[in-house]
Amino acid sequence: MSKVKNAYKEIENIVGSDFITDKDFMKAAYSRNVDPAFPDRWADMIVRPESTEEVSEIVKIANKYKIHMVPRGGGADLVGGSVTEGGILVDLTRMNKIIEINETDFYCVVECGITWGSLISQLHDKGLTTGVLGPGSGFSATIGGGLSNSTAGFGSTKYGLVPDICLGVEVVLPNPQGTIIKTGAAANKYAKPFCRYGVAPDFTGLFMGDVGSMGIKTKVFLKLYPETPFKAQRYYMLHKNDYNKVYELMYKLRKEVRDGLHDVLVVPLIVVQLLAGMVENKPTKRPRLKGPVFSIMVEAIDERILEIYLEKVDEIMKEDARPFEWQEVDNEARLSKDWKFELKYAYNYFNKYISIAPPKISCTTCHKIPISDLPKIAQQSAEFDNKQRSELPLGSISLFASVIFLLPNGNCVIVGGFNADNVDEQREKSMQLWHKKLRYQVRYGGVHYWLGETISQSIVEADAYTPEFLKFFKDMKKTVDPNFLLSPKKFHMYSYDYDYTKHIVKDEE
Ligand SMILES: Cc1cc2nc3c(=O)[nH]c(=O)nc-3n(C[C@H](O)[C@H](O)[C@H](O)COP(=O)(O)OP(=O)(O)OC[C@H]3O[C@@H](n4cnc5c(N)ncnc54)[C@H](O)[C@@H]3O)c2cc1C
Repeated sequence: MSKVKNAYKEIENIVGSDFITDKDFMKAAYSRNVDPAFPDRWADMIVRPESTEEVSEIVKIANKYKIHMVPRGGGADLVGGSVTEGGILVDLTRMNKIIEINETDFYCVVECGITWGSLISQLHDKGLTTGVLGPGSGFSATIGGGLSNSTAGFGSTKYGLVPDICLGVEVVLPNPQGTIIKTGAAANKYAKPFCRYGVAPDFTGLFMGDVGSMGIKTKVFLKLYPETPFKAQRYYMLHKNDYNKVYELMYKLRKEVRDGLHDVLVVPLIVVQLLAGMVENKPTKRPRLKGPVFSIMVEAIDERILEIYLEKVDEIMKEDARPFEWQEVDNEARLSKDWKFELKYAYNYFNKYISIAPPKISCTTCHKIPISDLPKIAQQSAEFDNKQRSELPLGSISLFASVIFLLPNGNCVIVGGFNADNVDEQREKSMQLWHKKLRYQVRYGGVHYWLGETISQSIVEADAYTPEFLKFFKDMKKTVDPNFLLSPKKFHMYSYDYDYTKHIVKDEE
């Protein structure tokens, strides 16, 4: 019997025959994420463990037969993170239980395969929230994916990234022993998992944003906040299409409204125009669209405080912008005064920006920059896109940003990319251009998240890591994964001796 067949039999004995498969139709179903530039990739087998102990046994068997593994949550990755050519795809979505919601000490313990939608709605019923509510794909994306991708999403303006609400994890190391460890306060076997720092160095960080390359996270301890009862949403359109003003206004909002801001999201003018063009029920009066739209959500513990925040926002915005309503472009849009927070909003708002020109699918990237660099980077990116125009797949459009998000401190996230048809002929071309654009972003100092395969490799290609850093990274990985079995290919790591420098690309710009 081949080693794959042997491993299959042994894993089947652990998880039961209903939760392992090597059937072609199942391999096909698991062969893609939401990433059109990648070809289909078929795992040798797909396994759906139910417990940490089962994950640990799978890891031991993978080590015995030296078969590589890739963890998978919701599979909503956009950069080839949770698929594998050959090997074992470990689907964690059966591990979806809430183990504890501690309403007095404000933390919860959940299995990593639970979706954001499921966790957030159960917390909401108790008047609790995780603050950052996960990615735009949160109806199906899991907490484990959010931690592994250092996800930013709804609520990130106030609460930061998903790792910022993480107090520790339970993780199965990909070593021959399938070692299970806990990090954060939980590393002290006498302590509740109520805080992250202090017991030891912050080993939780080792598994945050690792795109599933350092361990398989099975449980997580997350911060909780009491739900803030009063929320309001306002929109403003800038008088001019001016990124300098976008930066200045973001800066003022951050400085003067501070914790009152739940989310600040800027929709560039070109996107507003594209969205206006796509609307089915258009108003008869032609809208006057002159600049980007600021979408500002504020929250407060008291209605009077909310009023003060709204006044403050208005005061900041009034000189350079006018109040805007989406009804100006779409008869069916709700007025901001009638806006009410609902959980669906957290996960629906983003989808239309990810793929603004259906039926094409976007080769999108999200990356962070300091807000003061925004005007310069907007300009440079437009120049880059102009230069690459001839390389774009036919009929595609490239956008510096489809949305810009404000984060805590002075960072923002730019979500942008280009769109490509989901067809074989365009894949390679799209992939090359995508890597090139990513290298360009890395070299202007952009810091990405959801690195998956495409982005983690592009960082290496851009020669961003020093050799000392890469050696440290590999040494850490070797400690947890001596047989190099977990998520190969990410970061252009193929073995510990592999010469990554052959992937460094010197682009002209
Ligand atoms: C419409 C749409 C909107 C999106 N919006 C956002 C957004 O706002 N912000 C954002 O950050 N991303 C966004 N994404 C990208 C992606 O959906 C998120 O990053 C999400 O957090 C991925 O979660 P997932 O459970 O689907 O992970 P998967 O796709 O299953 O996996 C993602 C990565 O994490 C690893 N992984 C998953 N679970 C584990 C685990 N338990 N242990 C170890 N490694 C693991 C995988 O190997 C893979 O590398 C969006 C995608 C779409 C399609």
